[in-house]
Amino acid sequence: MQYIGSVYRPPSEAYSLIVQVTLGCAHNACTFCSMFKDKPFSLRREEDIFQDFEEARRVYRRVERIFLADGDALVLKTDKLLRIMDKIRALFPECTRVGIYGSPQDVLRKTRAELVSLREAGLGIVYIGAESGSDRVLAQVKKGATRAEIIESIEKTEDAGLPASVTFISGLAGRDGLREHAIECGTMISQASPSYIGLLTLIVEPPAPLCADIEAGRFALLSPTEVVEETRLLLEHTDVRRDCVFRSNHASNYVSLRGTLPQDKARMLAQLDAALQDAGLLKDERFRML
Ligand code: SF4
Repeated sequence: MQYIGSVYRPPSEAYSLIVQVTLGCAHNACTFCSMFKDKPFSLRREEDIFQDFEEARRVYRRVERIFLADGDALVLKTDKLLRIMDKIRALFPECTRVGIYGSPQDVLRKTRAELVSLREAGLGIVYIGAESGSDRVLAQVKKGATRAEIIESIEKTEDAGLPASVTFISGLAGRDGLREHAIECGTMISQASPSYIGLLTLIVEPPAPLCADIEAGRFALLSPTEVVEETRLLLEHTDVRRDCVFRSNHASNYVSLRGTLPQDKARMLAQLDAALQDAGLLKDERFRML
């Protein structure tokens, strides 16, 4: 297998075969992100991708899940993605789910028919980074998508029968924007009603451009208690119209939550209240990571 540079995957793809079909991120401008700043975006050659799959077939007896990396592999033209899916089906008939990162713009560029054809070819989940529900915060972090575009991309993905797993970042608006960020993330979740929500907590590492703002005092990171307060406010403002698996069990989080909205909302709020009462329930800073 040929892995080029650092490889990232969603927590739920921990046991998946990961194959890079693109390198880096086509957007690569988010101010909080350090993932691909040293890896210019490029497409991998089809023969190199296929070689990786063939090698994996020789090495692994059973491959149930496959994740297509890097940052926003859904940027690939649908024809090429369908050829990749065909290869997967031919080599790994036991594979039950293929996942991919897609930016809101990648989804919006595809027609509904293209998304349906990808689902029929075996694509099983699209991971979309919303990060915030607030247009002001999205512009500030240079996300490259508006609230309306993100909601449309989630609805379009779900409408094509593809579950969307959508990520938000606690603390992304700093102390000044805590309330706005929390409420607008909650209302975005309610409006778009994706199948899955993943809540991470902001960790900024060089060379993310946001580092300079933190050092200069222009951006205040939240304290652990403020992160919990923000998460509580976010959850309070969710009112989903279909079941939504909510997880904040990423290594970056202070409190690990897992449940299905709306039925587990009260339990998760109680868990956050308990953490607000007892700081001993918060994850130690030494054990947090990206
Ligand atoms: S957060 Fe996602 S879209 Fe933004 S630069 Fe990083 S990989 Fe690209």
